[in-house]
Amino acid sequence: MDLYSPLTALKGVGEKRQKLYQKLGINTVGDLLEHYPRGYLDLTGSLAIRDASDERPSAVKAVVTQKSQPKLIRRGLTVSKVRATDMERDILITFFNAKYTVEALEVGKEYIFYGDFTKRLTGGEMNSPAVISPEESGFLPQYPLTEGLSSKMVSVQMKTAIENCGHLIKETLSTDILEEYGLCSKEEAIRSIHFPKGQEDLEKAKKRLIFEEFLTFTLGMSLTKGKTRTASGNAFSDLSTDDFEKSLGFELTGAQKRVIAECKRDMCSSVPMSRLIQGDVGSGKTAVAASCMYFAAKNGFQSAMMAPTEVLAAQHKATLEKMFAPFGIKVGLLTGSMKASEKAAVKSAVKSGEITIVTGTHALIQEDVEFENLGLIITDEQHRFGVRQRMALGKKGRSPHTIVMSATPIPRTLAFVLYGDLDVSILDEMPKNRIPVKTYLVGPELSQRALGFVRNFAKEGKQSYIVCPLVERNEDSLPLEAAADLAEQIAGQELVDCNVGLLHGRMKPAEKERVMEAFAENRLQVLVSTTVIEVGVDVPNAVCMVIENADRFGLSQLHQLRGRVGRGKEQSYCILISGNKNPETKRRLEVIAKTTDGFKVAEEDLKLRGPGDFFGYRQSGLPMLKMADMMTDIKLLELAKKAAAEILEKDPKLERKEYSVLSANIQRLLEETAM
Ligand code: ADP
Ligand code: MG
Repeated sequence: MDLYSPLTALKGVGEKRQKLYQKLGINTVGDLLEHYPRGYLDLTGSLAIRDASDERPSAVKAVVTQKSQPKLIRRGLTVSKVRATDMERDILITFFNAKYTVEALEVGKEYIFYGDFTKRLTGGEMNSPAVISPEESGFLPQYPLTEGLSSKMVSVQMKTAIENCGHLIKETLSTDILEEYGLCSKEEAIRSIHFPKGQEDLEKAKKRLIFEEFLTFTLGMSLTKGKTRTASGNAFSDLSTDDFEKSLGFELTGAQKRVIAECKRDMCSSVPMSRLIQGDVGSGKTAVAASCMYFAAKNGFQSAMMAPTEVLAAQHKATLEKMFAPFGIKVGLLTGSMKASEKAAVKSAVKSGEITIVTGTHALIQEDVEFENLGLIITDEQHRFGVRQRMALGKKGRSPHTIVMSATPIPRTLAFVLYGDLDVSILDEMPKNRIPVKTYLVGPELSQRALGFVRNFAKEGKQSYIVCPLVERNEDSLPLEAAADLAEQIAGQELVDCNVGLLHGRMKPAEKERVMEAFAENRLQVLVSTTVIEVGVDVPNAVCMVIENADRFGLSQLHQLRGRVGRGKEQSYCILISGNKNPETKRRLEVIAKTTDGFKVAEEDLKLRGPGDFFGYRQSGLPMLKMADMMTDIKLLELAKKAAAEILEKDPKLERKEYSVLSANIQRLLEETAM
């Protein structure tokens, strides 16, 4: 047996189990060895009930004394109670829908139970703990699984694999790197990651594996950058854009000026620009984009600006049209749902060069729009676009310069993983006139007061948003506010003297546009909407936002929503309404109430949800680093970047023998992610 043997070479793996492993992408013994645990059950501490903690998952060893028949509580939910003792204290265990687990438990026998623990006077309670044989000890690896496989099975097969093939594991890093960065060998790391002898052993293994992931990734990015960044683009001339910037009606912030200069410098090179602009909501990304497009126009090139929603695309068009009219530069709009004849007209104007700047949604990518001479592509609110879409865009035109704008401050490690192929500019300064939004978290009993607040603003000529989690109340009878129902109700009652509008994703684009326009022109004082206004909509006269069932939204989403107010010179308010009593939920919402710093919000969000869910990171088409934890491994990332730079200095194309395994791994990574 070797690393390339099929899994059936292992004892205990037949054809059926082989199929299950295949589902996890594991085909060979070597693949299995690289299937790392996602965590461990820690049995290294005391297993006495008295020592179990409320604060983290605990393991207790106890003898079962009693078990009840499963009781059907409601459809699809059965509950069984089990009592157990360690002769000093007792535990009461509740199992949900765990018929087989409970049947297998024998009265009079000893087990280890692992899970959340609640202390009680004479012992404690546990809900649906893992049941482990009393002989187990140390760290029990928990693997990513598929139905039909258990961590126990995987670890049994892992043991066999390591016994037979452990010595065949190839070293991937050169000796000098291992020495310089104090890393253990690959073989040792793999043995320890599956069966750590202790905490220290585990840390060493993790450090080594994470370092290697980051190093591979960093080198991969550097090599791709080197390859894709050839001098195939249009080098613009460094013409002044002062006249345009003076016409904006405000003084650009220092950060805006700096970022515009960075972009202009890039565009003057024949190596196409590939730049990410990160700036919190309201930091003035549109003005930066506009200056860059003006720069392109002055150089005789067209620009395209992509937005994630039709509302936003239409708004960009309106904003840009105003900005560019004095300069005789024509702006067009192109969205998926426009009438065929309208689309055709815009397309032909884009092709002839009559339209210099075109804004639009995905339609721009998906349909075959031809440009006369496309020089710059800007993608707004990047987190809505996958990397693949970004790539597709890059293929339009003859290597145009590209800018990606993101309103989501993402932690540095994650940013590097998501946008490692881009250079980064940061808008870290808010326009001076900005007053932080005051945010309050209140219970549903204060809804009426909030509406009163909205009414008073309307009387003063100021506008408000009311955001709901649903469009229409549904059968599920979840007690959630629905935009359509709420709009109808308040228009007839609480806000009868205001003009109330409704905006949601199911409306026709033309209708949406009409509503947004009416709101922008203050013909509507109150806009009841779903999250369609989350991104980018800009109405400076809107000073109040009420968010119903705020607990239904993610933190970053709430921050984005809140960014719709506080865009003018007035004090703005955001009222989060939530009746959710869960302490964790409350804590989460308090984060939003306490800080207006998008960076802090994003970090909190990432902590709560993990990188997997962070803005569809998983769908973004980038590699899931197997080990690296985006939040905590910044130091290792920095070390790996340093190592990568050292390696590339010595051997820019990784041709030396000592880097051959690494080089092959990089290749594999690049292929997997189609970068
Ligand atoms: P975002 O970064 O969220 O896309 P916008 O570009 O929509 O922000 O800008 C938000 C608001 O701030 C707009 O109304 C814009 O006109 C205004 N603005 C942008 N830059 C400045 C500035 N330097 N000074 C004052 N107001 C500005
Ligand atoms: Mg914007």
